[in-house]
Amino acid sequence: MEQGTALTPGDILLRIKAAKETLGGRVMVLGHHYQRDEIYRFADHTGDSFGLAKAAGANPDVSYIVFCGVHFMAESADILTRDDQTVILPDLEAGCTMADMAVIEDVEEAWEILTETQPGRKILPITYVNSSAEVKALVGANDGSACTSSNASTVLTWARQQAEQVLFIPDQHLGRNLFHAVGVPLDKMVIWDPNEPEGGLTAKQLKGAEVVLWKGHCSVHQQFTVQQIEYWRSEYPKIQIAAHPECAFEVTQQADYTGSTEGIKRMIRDSPPGSQWAVGTEHHMVNRLAAELPDHFIVTLTPFACQCSTMYRIDPLDLMRVLEGLAEGRVINQVQVDERIKPMARRSLERMLELV
Ligand code: 13P
Ligand code: SF4
Repeated sequence: MEQGTALTPGDILLRIKAAKETLGGRVMVLGHHYQRDEIYRFADHTGDSFGLAKAAGANPDVSYIVFCGVHFMAESADILTRDDQTVILPDLEAGCTMADMAVIEDVEEAWEILTETQPGRKILPITYVNSSAEVKALVGANDGSACTSSNASTVLTWARQQAEQVLFIPDQHLGRNLFHAVGVPLDKMVIWDPNEPEGGLTAKQLKGAEVVLWKGHCSVHQQFTVQQIEYWRSEYPKIQIAAHPECAFEVTQQADYTGSTEGIKRMIRDSPPGSQWAVGTEHHMVNRLAAELPDHFIVTLTPFACQCSTMYRIDPLDLMRVLEGLAEGRVINQVQVDERIKPMARRSLERMLELV
């Protein structure tokens, strides 16, 4: 193939279009809401993590799924699709820094300590879908479930009915926000720090905890603050605040709406023209929404660009390369989950898809 760097952006877009046309119904491109416009426009399905996982599993006729998202999303697609369907991540370095905060060996150790030091207590692991396939497999093997921001309330309510204590991995913020929303008092939640012996918790603290939150976070969503909300409210008294549940508790407590990326989009699209919104999530999605709804006033909560830099790694050149490769019969950047862990990881994802 000729060197991509000699191509203009227009050439690249034309070649993506041509390769996609050649592949026809054999390929499906999935695009997360945080993708840049030049990628998003080529997606056959766009959505939040839940919607894209569902779309991946619901299209048995396609041979190739090109996942324009991050690594854990492509892994989930590989787990949920048939063995003869191929999942591709256009840039294999497009990971999720939050998912990387729950290393499987640390999670195994935490699980062992929790279960061994509390004999007789029913404990259930729940993982946010932003986690590795290994973590999902541990959760599935121990009768737990994955969840996304769009069905976490249902999953967490279910989890509370199943067990006396829940280990929630890896986002402490989403866990705190949504367990609080389904009725768990803050003083019944403790934080498990994988860098501390015994998670940094005493036996007494563990005993009193209904929820053990893994000490993980999303750096993108930690940039939103209560001060920003106060600023927008002082300048625009009618403004409404929408926040992703990965934001800090203080922020979601102040928000008028908290939900997944798809939920935020729906909420704003359904609001009447003239509505004003300041949104606490990744800026590509917010800017696209603002362009789509010129009769609304839509801004990101922070005045500074708030970007998921791992998601941004996928660029048009990557997409062109993988699609042209497929059109020529070459698979580039396949994501393949180890067959040994797939069945248990699938269990946690299938339960996630059932619990809506
Ligand atoms: P959604 O499931 O809401 O799309 O969120 C995924 C994510 O990683 C947000 O940071
Ligand atoms: Fe991961 Fe945060 Fe990017 Fe979402 S925004 S994919 S949680 S790093």
